[in-house]
Amino acid sequence: MNTFREKSPGPALLDAGLAAVATGLLSWVYALGPDALPVALATLLAVIMLHPWLRRLPVPRAAGPVALVLVSLLAPGVLLVQYTRSQTHDVPLAAAASALVFLLVLGRLALLLADARHIAATDALTGLNTRRAFETRLRELRRGRPAAVVLLDIDRFKRINDAFGHPAGDRVLCAVAGRLRETAGPGVTVARYGGEEFALLIPDADAARAGELADRLRSAIGATAVDLGGGAVRVVTISAGTAALPADTRDPGELVPLADRALYAAKRAGRDRVVAATPPANPGTTTGPGGASAGPDWAAANAATPRARDQDAPAREPGTDEWPTPLPRPRRTELEAA
Ligand code: GH3
Ligand code: MG
Ligand code: MG
Repeated sequence: MNTFREKSPGPALLDAGLAAVATGLLSWVYALGPDALPVALATLLAVIMLHPWLRRLPVPRAAGPVALVLVSLLAPGVLLVQYTRSQTHDVPLAAAASALVFLLVLGRLALLLADARHIAATDALTGLNTRRAFETRLRELRRGRPAAVVLLDIDRFKRINDAFGHPAGDRVLCAVAGRLRETAGPGVTVARYGGEEFALLIPDADAARAGELADRLRSAIGATAVDLGGGAVRVVTISAGTAALPADTRDPGELVPLADRALYAAKRAGRDRVVAATPPANPGTTTGPGGASAGPDWAAANAATPRARDQDAPAREPGTDEWPTPLPRPRRTELEAA
């Protein structure tokens, strides 16, 4: 399964820093004599405590921070004791050691912050942007520039979980995410918005471009069966709603609610289709049940174009709630060809 893996940015930098610090300290100790050894060793220990590798060693979780506090206090402690005794011969070493540990702590904090930001912005299963990252981009939209949102939902996804198990459902989520990423192209923010819902933010796009992209996404997802594992393959379909700024609303915060209403109009109209939002004030549009305004139906517009489907993959009969009997697992070459 294409499960996303977390990246830890910058450990190579810390490796280089560690090597440089070790070399510097050893030459310093050599120059200053054996009195400098405890401070130098404590500083080296602090550097090791700060290294990301320490997380892989079987040491108790609290041991690292406790040891780090102790060794961080050693150099300033030596300075204070020597100050009270009016001795100053180790001042340069203690000051340099304190500064080094401080800089390394700052470096480690910066790496942890970058890690935390990356995790908050990246969906752990699919590697797409999270809803939080999507909403940040939405807030950052430049005033007065057009933009469009596409909200997509996998049709009858619960049945895949129920029939084949959650790991198979996860495979579908990863496959859909991959097809969205490939088809959306550069500049488009693709996010996993909720469980089996995805959102796209297209800067500088009008309603027509959003509708076209949404229908291309729908075709790309429905064109090839997903390997669910254990010998099962299924074609999945999606429904989508679109909303555009400024045609449908002048408030960027209204884009998602409008696209959501259009998405539910697409569900009610039979699924596997794209529906554009229509501003409620606009006369002459069809209003769907529940108050949703259903605009152009992109699936109907594209009905004349036959969609390429995997010949071996069974499609659900329209209007039925049943999945066909699972097919035998296709040979690898067949999947690669698909
Ligand atoms: P509809 O066509 O109306 O959208 O029907 P649906 O079955 O797709 O929608 P429903 O809301 O009934 O079911 C969504 C399911 O998605 C329920 C939940 O268990 C599943 N789901 C949510 N997140 C995950 C996930 O991360 N992995 C898996 N495998 N399933 C998930
Ligand atoms: Mg849903
Ligand atoms: Mg669904």
